[in-house]
Amino acid sequence: MKLLNQAQISELALYRSPRFFITSAYFDTDKSHQNYKEIKLRLKNLISRAEDQLKHLPLSKEKKEALREDLRKIEEYLFQNLRSYKHPGLAVFSCARENFWQEFILPDPPRNRIVFDRNAYVRPLSAILDEHKKIGTLVLDRKEAKFYEVFMDDIKLIETIKGEVPPKVREGGWEGYESKRIERHIETHLHEYFKNCGQTTFNLFKKNQFEWFFLGCKEEYLPYFKEHLHPYLQQRLKGQIKVSPADNPDKILTAVSKLEKLLKEQEKESLVKRLISELKKDGLAISGLDSTLDYLNRSAVQILLVTRYFSQPGYMCPKCHFLYASYEICPGCKIHTQPQVDVIDEAIEMAMNKNCEVKHINPPTQLQEYGNIGAFLRFKP
Ligand SMILES: [Zn+2]
Repeated sequence: MKLLNQAQISELALYRSPRFFITSAYFDTDKSHQNYKEIKLRLKNLISRAEDQLKHLPLSKEKKEALREDLRKIEEYLFQNLRSYKHPGLAVFSCARENFWQEFILPDPPRNRIVFDRNAYVRPLSAILDEHKKIGTLVLDRKEAKFYEVFMDDIKLIETIKGEVPPKVREGGWEGYESKRIERHIETHLHEYFKNCGQTTFNLFKKNQFEWFFLGCKEEYLPYFKEHLHPYLQQRLKGQIKVSPADNPDKILTAVSKLEKLLKEQEKESLVKRLISELKKDGLAISGLDSTLDYLNRSAVQILLVTRYFSQPGYMCPKCHFLYASYEICPGCKIHTQPQVDVIDEAIEMAMNKNCEVKHINPPTQLQEYGNIGAFLRFKP
């Protein structure tokens, strides 16, 4: 099923088996940066690493065997569906011994990860939800307006407004004087109708708490329509899409998603620019893996920025759980650290644990020139 709201996540988070653990698996199935063969290889490696990890878990033989069943089921499912799967991400939650199985189609690629725990590991789902805006979209022409709610790849028609504007005067059908009078009559109707559209949109925004406002209308109507738009909506008007009320919802959804993606990328890239200017004036920001891990360990990070797909091996101290890019001995505890296949995964996990915001920045980005990772700080210790 599609990931659509917090309620789905809360319900999943409540699931618990009295006897067995749950396997949570996240897969990056985004074919825009990797082909089918590469995806398959990466996921195969991920599953075999999880099998290795399973061997060392302090669990009963029965519990481990149950988790191994999950992995086999997940692997089978993946390789049956992967080739035709068209979405950028997939999450699967399984407890085979209890016949529990749930999968979510994800609109963004997650980081590949498999987690065994008593509860489903749902934090990446919440993170994806947080990243998406609730978009109120009004599509109108001179006869009809439709208001849609768009959230997480899903579109719902909420309201239809009929215009009742008389059709335009046919050429030559009227004497000059008469025709001017009628044009004015039409204008009045059109203004009334746009006013009504603006008011309805404002009411729907207040009722449903949309974050962004998208508009689909012809350029020629735009100045008229904007006249009737409440400043609250003008502020939230993020852009226009080229669609009409007669278009089917799928076409409208495609246009909305495309604009949303573009705006989000712009937003993130301006965040990177802010980071760089903060770095240049030696303000509350740092970059590079060593420093970022250092400040993350000391709970000084507010927003973590990572280039999407960036990954690197590193170390974790088994005692204080601090993360390091290169220390084989923990400077604090003076004991050997443990190698980590991907210290970036662990850093993201630690950031989420400490309630930091995590922003995945799509490459190419200026962040790549700053070590692919950086952070805004709460304070400089
Ligand atoms: Zn330590």
